[in-house]
Amino acid sequence: MRSLATDVADPVALTRALVDIESVSGNEKEITDAVEEVLRSARHLDVARSGNVICARTRPGRPSRVVLAGHLDTVPLHDNFPSYVDGELIYGCGTADMKSGAALALHLAVTADEPAFDVTYLFYDCEEVEADRNGLNRITTQQPDWLAADFAILLEPTYGLVEAGCQGTLRASVRTVGRRAHSARSWLGINAIHGAGEVLRRLGAYEARRVVIDGCEYREGLNAVSIRGGVAGNVIPDACEIDVNFRFAPDRSEAEAADHVREVLDGYAVEISDSAPGALPGLTPAPARRFIDAVGVPPIGKLGWTDVSRFAALGVPALNFGPGDPNLAHTRDEHVEIPKILAGAEILRRWLRGR
Ligand SMILES: [Zn+2]
Repeated sequence: MRSLATDVADPVALTRALVDIESVSGNEKEITDAVEEVLRSARHLDVARSGNVICARTRPGRPSRVVLAGHLDTVPLHDNFPSYVDGELIYGCGTADMKSGAALALHLAVTADEPAFDVTYLFYDCEEVEADRNGLNRITTQQPDWLAADFAILLEPTYGLVEAGCQGTLRASVRTVGRRAHSARSWLGINAIHGAGEVLRRLGAYEARRVVIDGCEYREGLNAVSIRGGVAGNVIPDACEIDVNFRFAPDRSEAEAADHVREVLDGYAVEISDSAPGALPGLTPAPARRFIDAVGVPPIGKLGWTDVSRFAALGVPALNFGPGDPNLAHTRDEHVEIPKILAGAEILRRWLRGR
């Protein structure tokens, strides 16, 4: 097993070391072993492990507890392994999403031995795949005490900005029905694909809300994302199905989001297939306010869905903050800027020291 002991004092070297342990979702044992070993070497931490999820906690004694969390898995490699450095950039799979962020958490876990808060460091597996394999998701039911805190930071890529809360997402399908007939006698049938036209017109004309919560703007979107219909080249189709995705601001619940979609598509058969709640920005706890001050740039709303929502569901306000550029996540050219890693480490260290 590769040891991280020599790299842990330097977040840049540690980023490279983590990138150079391949950990495509489902293959996180080796990287988790390495992270566990270096955490166990830190005397001020209590370390526990469940599968490929690790929880390292400072001992209680401060007025509030904060979580720093990150996933250790990556999407599949794409001729971008191992890492290499070009000037101020580290290239490689997972550099932005999110081994540079995980490196900050691991670096601070081992080196920040007198934090002003009780701190929980969480490292988990399978974030880049289906939710039922997600390590953090499993822990919310099996070890909810590991997530207990007043405030959490997820070190997902935000390019050094604070992205607070997250939007919810809902999928629905809308079905139009008609009556089959031979296309040579089309007046005997009812064309369900033509019937879908009005649904598409409503979606096309939909004016999405822009909502500001705690100074963070969330921009909604309601869109058709796929459409199916048709029987054969000589048959008037009797059914057409449109899949719709609604990205909604966190001031709506999942049920309210579903009601809204039904209202927009009133008169049609709407079936909700699944949804995930958003998360309010939650910037009011003292550690959160101090963190915003430490970053020194006003927070913005997170538009995508992230694991902050799992913390929010447990009543823990959470935000995203990481050195990677989210636009580079999952790309072949994925890279991270070394100055962003150093700046992120400095901000987090100052905040954890309480100065
Ligand atoms: Zn990620």
